[in-house]
Amino acid sequence: MTEYEAVIGLETHIQLNTKTKIFCSCKADSWADEPNTNICPVCCGLPGVLPVLNKAVVEKAVVLANAMHSEIQPLSYFDRKNYFYPDLPKGYQISQFDQSLGKGGYLDLPIPAANSFDKKAYIRRVSIWKLHIEEDAGKTKNAGNRRFIDFNRCGVPLVEMVTGPDLRTADEAAQYLIRLRQLLRWLGISEADMEKAHLRCDANVSIRVKGETVLNPKTEIKNVNSIEAVRDAIATEIDRQVREVEAGHRIEAWTLEWDEDTGSLKKMRSKETEADYRYFREPDLLPIRMTEEWKAKILAGFPELPLQRRARFVEQYGLPEYDADILTGERRLSDYYEEAVKDYGGDPKKVSNWLMNDVLRMINEQGLNPSEMKLTPQALASLLKLVDGGTINISTGKSLLQKVQDTGRTPEAIVSEEGLGKVSDDSAIRTVCEEVLTESPNEVASYKAGKVTLIGWFVGQVMKKMRGKADAAMARSILEELLK
Ligand code: ADP
Ligand code: ZN
Ligand code: MG
Repeated sequence: MTEYEAVIGLETHIQLNTKTKIFCSCKADSWADEPNTNICPVCCGLPGVLPVLNKAVVEKAVVLANAMHSEIQPLSYFDRKNYFYPDLPKGYQISQFDQSLGKGGYLDLPIPAANSFDKKAYIRRVSIWKLHIEEDAGKTKNAGNRRFIDFNRCGVPLVEMVTGPDLRTADEAAQYLIRLRQLLRWLGISEADMEKAHLRCDANVSIRVKGETVLNPKTEIKNVNSIEAVRDAIATEIDRQVREVEAGHRIEAWTLEWDEDTGSLKKMRSKETEADYRYFREPDLLPIRMTEEWKAKILAGFPELPLQRRARFVEQYGLPEYDADILTGERRLSDYYEEAVKDYGGDPKKVSNWLMNDVLRMINEQGLNPSEMKLTPQALASLLKLVDGGTINISTGKSLLQKVQDTGRTPEAIVSEEGLGKVSDDSAIRTVCEEVLTESPNEVASYKAGKVTLIGWFVGQVMKKMRGKADAAMARSILEELLK
């Protein structure tokens, strides 16, 4: 049987999180607003108005270009992309064509090992073909035989980023979007929420016989608005193409639409070509002159990127990759971790365990922001020190997390005010142990008959009576002694 491989390239549109639109002062993010409430003569393309470029758009695009290892051009131009569509009131979109802000670039994707033993983790380098600034168009909605148009999105600032045909599986395509979303949030330049159209993706798919280097005709899948949908749509399309080719048919360059409800692809149209757009320079805007000074100012304080930080966490703190990946999933979380490690001074893996299991659960369940928690990294560090020093046991420590978060008091203060310190007074524990044994004659009999594993149950009863404060090791040895 012939073995095929997929060839996939992604075109993404990223909404930058500026306050205002790209060429006017209308509010940019009108996701939750009534239709046609954030519009003005400029973004609606009325005659006699002129666009004024929003500086913040350029600055955020430069940050992204830098993170993508894209060459930032000293001079770039705006161009008109001409087409007619009801939600494009000017009859053209202001975009960048041949001289765009960024040139080239790449993103390295760590692809995790598959579950099967013969697949190893690897890095997929995805090249960037295009990185440019443009304005968004409006939104059209069909309802029965009527058509509604919302201009709110007209003039919303976007960066369009196009990858080379470097991805090989539906999973790799999903990984690209996961890492891109992480990066955009890390840089603070986009909410990158696919459900809110802050991040949109069209997927280009073709197949070829494995080992070949030709590029075969491709299809383009539109209208996929979640990462899972992108993965499913691509996998479905790869299967279809393999079946077509096996049946002796040719793949035609269609544009397809993903229907999330039925999990199937529909043909939208045959693809138009670039020449149809009649690009020409935008006469109403000056080129962007990116001086070295301006660029240096924008990139001052450019952060360590998530994948670099992930590698450093493995190296510097000896964390497993799994931990490092979760802890660097979000920038504020990784900052939190590092601060706690610094304050604690002990084993960094221990901080990771507490953070990943207990603190992260609190954060997720209660929708907390790691950088604004009352359970600060310092508080977590001192709590861990109380456990290490034997002042409190682990279960008291865990219940303290929420108390600190609720009250904002230090762990030390709560422990001393509420008398949570561990009881390691022999006679106090002995009294409770005796109580437990008297109350459980059946278990005592079983124990004596040889079921020695019951010791754990007895210790549990003692801990319960002492509300978790007893020194468990001490309780165990007293119980064993009494049971002899
Ligand atoms: P088009 O002219 O159809 O828009 P481009 O050459 O501009 O095509 O590429 C658009 C996207 O399609 C890019 O992401 C690119 O990587 C991808 N692409 C190009 N050729 C192929 C192919 N043969 N198979 C899969 N993807 C492809
Ligand atoms: Zn406007
Ligand atoms: Mg193209």
